[in-house]
Amino acid sequence: MSSSPSLEALSGELAALRPRMEAVSLAIHARPELKFAEFHAQQLLTGWLVESGFTVTAGAGGLDTAFVAVHHGPTPGPYVAVLAEYDALPGIGHGCGHNLIAAGAAAAAIAVARTLPAHPGTVAVIGTPGEETGGAGKIRLAEAGVFEGVDAAVMFHPGDRWLTGRPGLAAAHLRVAFTGVSAHASVSPWQGRSALAAAQLFLNAVDSMRQFVPPSARLHGIVSDGGQAPNVVPAGAAVDLYVRDRTAGSARALVERVRAAAEGCALATGTRAEVGESGPLYAERRNNTVLAERFGRAVRALGVRIGPGGPDSPAGSSDIGNLSQLMPVIHPYVQIADAGTPAHSEAMREAAATSLAHDHTQVAATGLAEVVAALLTDTEVLAAARAEFAAGSEVAV
Ligand SMILES: [Zn+2]
Ligand SMILES: [Zn+2]
Repeated sequence: MSSSPSLEALSGELAALRPRMEAVSLAIHARPELKFAEFHAQQLLTGWLVESGFTVTAGAGGLDTAFVAVHHGPTPGPYVAVLAEYDALPGIGHGCGHNLIAAGAAAAAIAVARTLPAHPGTVAVIGTPGEETGGAGKIRLAEAGVFEGVDAAVMFHPGDRWLTGRPGLAAAHLRVAFTGVSAHASVSPWQGRSALAAAQLFLNAVDSMRQFVPPSARLHGIVSDGGQAPNVVPAGAAVDLYVRDRTAGSARALVERVRAAAEGCALATGTRAEVGESGPLYAERRNNTVLAERFGRAVRALGVRIGPGGPDSPAGSSDIGNLSQLMPVIHPYVQIADAGTPAHSEAMREAAATSLAHDHTQVAATGLAEVVAALLTDTEVLAAARAEFAAGSEVAV
């Protein structure tokens, strides 16, 4: 069996890959693509991986912009996936820094294949499109069987600080549609029933619930349809609302209260409410501490101060949560901007194109490569990660 390469060897390989990694990242950043339209990013990443000896299947799992790139060693062994996200945000572009995730993931996997060409098993880059705005790319790929046989999945995410992990909330993605009756807004408004009035009342109802939901819950939305013209009583209106809390069970319980509120608002305004899901529920995240701490040790050796986020860290949600219920995963955070810089902001978008962001992505990719190499070559590492996963303990991140 091959032994794991030294951190120095991986670090040297990542340094050699740096110019291409940065070029791919900046090209993705300069041309932001929304969920499931990430064809340019897919092409850049798969082209690089094919050149580097990986076998690529584009359109994996029935998603056109997904891909699976595999490098098989000569002997059987674990199947370890590095995950690449590459979608952007509406109106903001790469304000979540997925250009760095994508280029760093490919670089990490290529570094493993170059440093350890005769590794046991399989190292893969799985391109998971559509993470933002409830796209649920990873959930769709898992349902299509793309993750069958994968023993562990690793990725990193840009942010305003280094963390080996932090919690991720469960999130339900709702579309609350109201249907009223149209009428002239001045000549005979009494003949109409305003769906927009119902939507306004509903957002107020959600606000009035806030004191009475757990402090960990997040209820936030936008009016996604507010009518067509001021002189027409809107017959249709809609609110897109996310309902988040620590667990899927708690989020689902809150959804039922939100549903009751929507129905009450419909009753008050003479309209009808329909509460549907705009996408699958994102599950809460389980961080595998065996692998997360291994990542932490690797990047600490490269000069980074990093620790876990703690259970009360501010948290968003990701479809990595659903994967974390299926296999050991890690989702550490990489500092690319000053502490306090908000995610999903223009400031974070600008930060995601700096050379500091690429310096730190290079370090994070080295950390991921070290974890992947250890999983492939040291059976005890995978066994320990699996044991923690099987124990199902509520993991302190
Ligand atoms: Zn995001
Ligand atoms: Zn993100």
